[in-house]
Amino acid sequence: MLLSEKKGLIFGVANGHSIAWAIAQEAAKQGATLGFTYLNEALERRVRPLAESVNSPLIARCDACSDEELDEVFKMVDEQWGGQLDFVVHSIAFAQREDLQGKFLDTSRDGFKTALEVSAYSLVAVAQRAASRMTQGGSLITLTYHGSQQVVPNYNVMGVAKAALEASVRYLANDLGDQNVRVNAVSAGPVKTLSAKGIRGFGDMLKNSADVAPLKRNVEIAEVANTGVFLLSDYSSGITGEVLYVDAGLNTKACV
Ligand code: NAD
Repeated sequence: MLLSEKKGLIFGVANGHSIAWAIAQEAAKQGATLGFTYLNEALERRVRPLAESVNSPLIARCDACSDEELDEVFKMVDEQWGGQLDFVVHSIAFAQREDLQGKFLDTSRDGFKTALEVSAYSLVAVAQRAASRMTQGGSLITLTYHGSQQVVPNYNVMGVAKAALEASVRYLANDLGDQNVRVNAVSAGPVKTLSAKGIRGFGDMLKNSADVAPLKRNVEIAEVANTGVFLLSDYSSGITGEVLYVDAGLNTKACV
């Protein structure tokens, strides 16, 4: 099994459709021991049974914008796992609904700050706490989307946040490489999840992507998960600072 004897934290499960949950299920199948966080009480009701279904005793509330709540999660890693941490899945993003439609030009200062703090800085905040516990080396992955590189209608401020996230992956990978801690991003094609529903026109995006992609279909969430687990495992030991596309080839096509 790819992740036997490894312990990892999963940030970003909202429900059974979350990409983080698909990665967690595959990681559990590959022998990992997992810890989960949830954003608030409303989501706890969904996350707790999922975590318990993969025998995870470490479940903690964590708003990634709260240093106190982040510290609390890593305190639980110290107490329950003796400080051993091998990997982290960061699968967190948020932008105000009004900033995921219309023109990017209209993004407010507050909307910009929120999107960048939740969707990009949170990776840095997590890495700061995770790296010191990865004494045997480790792997951090995050989730991104091609709207960081090219203009995608309505993706707007989230595209800017994903560009910051991808640059953060490269800088973190450089800072942590001498500890053998790797940092990578999976750039997923469109997948129907709670967050995706917040993007105006997401249904059209799904249909158009399937028409245009070289594989003539959308990517399956399990394919994103498999790549995530590969990046968490020692099979990817030579890969860091990378953005790996799992999008049925969509990003390789020019819009002509
Ligand atoms: P999702 O809604 O299931 O997951 C998003 C998660 O972010 C939720 O669990 C939510 O609780 C969490 N979150 C939001 N604000 C938070 C905060 N302040 N603190 C802690 N957690 C917070 O949707 P998803 O599609 O699984 O999204 C996961 C990641 O995948 C996101 O980064 C998203 O941008 C990325 N992604 C999604 C797609 C897609 O088409 N669904 C494509 C490419 C990349």
